[in-house]
Amino acid sequence: MAETIFDVVVVGGGPAGYTCAIRAAQFGLKVALIDANDRLGGTCLLWGCIPTKAMLFTAEIWDHLKHADKYGIDGVAEPKLNWKNVLARKDDVISRHTKGLDFLMKKNKITTFKGFGRLTGGAKDGIHSIDVKLADGKAETVKAKKVVLATGSDARMLPGYKADETILTNYEILKIGEMPKSLVVIGSGAVGVEFASIFKGVGAEVTILEMLPRVVPVEDEEISKELLRLFKKRGIDVNLSVKDTKIEKNKDGALVSFTDANGKTQTKQVEKVLVAVGRAPRTADIGLDKTKIVPDRGFIMTNEWMETTEPGVYAIGDIVGGLPQLAHVGSMAGLVVAARLAGKFAKPVNRTRVPGCTYCDPQIASVGLTEAQAKEKGFQVKVGKFPFVGNSKATILDAHDGFVKVVSEAKYGEILGVHIIGPYATEIIAECVTALELEATVEEMMFTIHAHPTVAEALLDGFSSVEGLAVNV
Ligand SMILES: Cc1cc2nc3c(=O)[nH]c(=O)nc-3n(C[C@H](O)[C@H](O)[C@H](O)COP(=O)(O)OP(=O)(O)OC[C@H]3O[C@@H](n4cnc5c(N)ncnc54)[C@H](O)[C@@H]3O)c2cc1C
Repeated sequence: MAETIFDVVVVGGGPAGYTCAIRAAQFGLKVALIDANDRLGGTCLLWGCIPTKAMLFTAEIWDHLKHADKYGIDGVAEPKLNWKNVLARKDDVISRHTKGLDFLMKKNKITTFKGFGRLTGGAKDGIHSIDVKLADGKAETVKAKKVVLATGSDARMLPGYKADETILTNYEILKIGEMPKSLVVIGSGAVGVEFASIFKGVGAEVTILEMLPRVVPVEDEEISKELLRLFKKRGIDVNLSVKDTKIEKNKDGALVSFTDANGKTQTKQVEKVLVAVGRAPRTADIGLDKTKIVPDRGFIMTNEWMETTEPGVYAIGDIVGGLPQLAHVGSMAGLVVAARLAGKFAKPVNRTRVPGCTYCDPQIASVGLTEAQAKEKGFQVKVGKFPFVGNSKATILDAHDGFVKVVSEAKYGEILGVHIIGPYATEIIAECVTALELEATVEEMMFTIHAHPTVAEALLDGFSSVEGLAVNV
């Protein structure tokens, strides 16, 4: 039988890889997808975005139930958390979507290989070969005209420690058999503050240790300040500018010691420690040494079309240097590559128009430049801010904390960035991404009708506040 030569082989079946594979197949290309895990979906579906949001939803419902009488519902005085069922529901959400991905592979006639893929070198006579070590121990070589690398990332660990049943990463914490009564979270990026919200929400004592002087350090400074205030109000013990963190395991969990911002040594005895200090690209053993690709601290560098330095080999998702490690960035890069491979229209991923969403309580979402970044870039900046306290839907939701902050360019009013902390922030940011994509001005957004009563109306007031014309404050 003639050997199959695919148009494209995608290595890695996370959101970057499976999105690329599906779109390439929709364009009529013959596609193979290789994934090392027994289920498709990658970090996002199995150990990241989806399971954490399922658990955050449980924490949110739990919080509403505890205050049910406030909403006119009696008889829910003593709700009980069934941790086993919290995990079971999370697993059910995951498995519904892994099955969905299997269906999409079949529907789009994508050939899948369950195994670990490795590049064997550059193309020979225009054909690339990927060696695959299959899950059943057998080996296979997949041949294709183009290769897309999408092997994702792994949690970083503190130097000298290993993840186990006490020291956890996002992988272990999603499987712990019992709800811990106390938890130290090391790192206050998106992953850290989301887990802090989940576990505080369901009643654990939570401590955050952050080495930088603010929480969610990539966000606008005012957003960091507001989250710090609100986390403290909820009783989360937040420690900033922390140094020399050490973890000593003992029979009750772990004793965590650190030097606080005043130079004093502090200790904390807890049941579990979550290490959330970033993600490392998974590129160590995928055959890059046999190619012209020279990784930069493990990351693969690409041009705007996601092409690597090895002809015919593309990289997308968390392995790409200089792009935010977010599922929607990876999947958009996958769409760009698929379109380019099929000779269709595509636009490169624009770093300044990536929505950043953090699903902590309250939620944070932003797009574009922070106020400090806009000033650094030399813009004459005009800023508006609208607090959710003036938004009627926020009152209905009993979620008055937070604000919308709009950063605009003073002369023509172009919107440079929007930063939101508060209810449904991660949903309403979509409007702001579109506004930036279409280079909208403050004036245009001030005359864009927003439905009432919605949380999104806070954006209308936010844009109007740039001109000092917010109505509801
Ligand atoms: C706790 C947590 C919460 C998160 N929440 C969000 C969120 O809410 N929103 C968001 O946008 N992002 C979130 N992220 C980030 C998001 O999960 C990643 O950005 C995204 O999964 C990256 O997609 P990817 O396809 O590049 O890689 P991955 O999802 O890591 O997938 C890579 C795939 O490649 C496979 N693979 C690896 N090596 C090989 C090989 N050699 N051969 C074959 N297969 C291989 C792996 O098995 C895996 O399936 C979160 C991350 C974490 C850890």
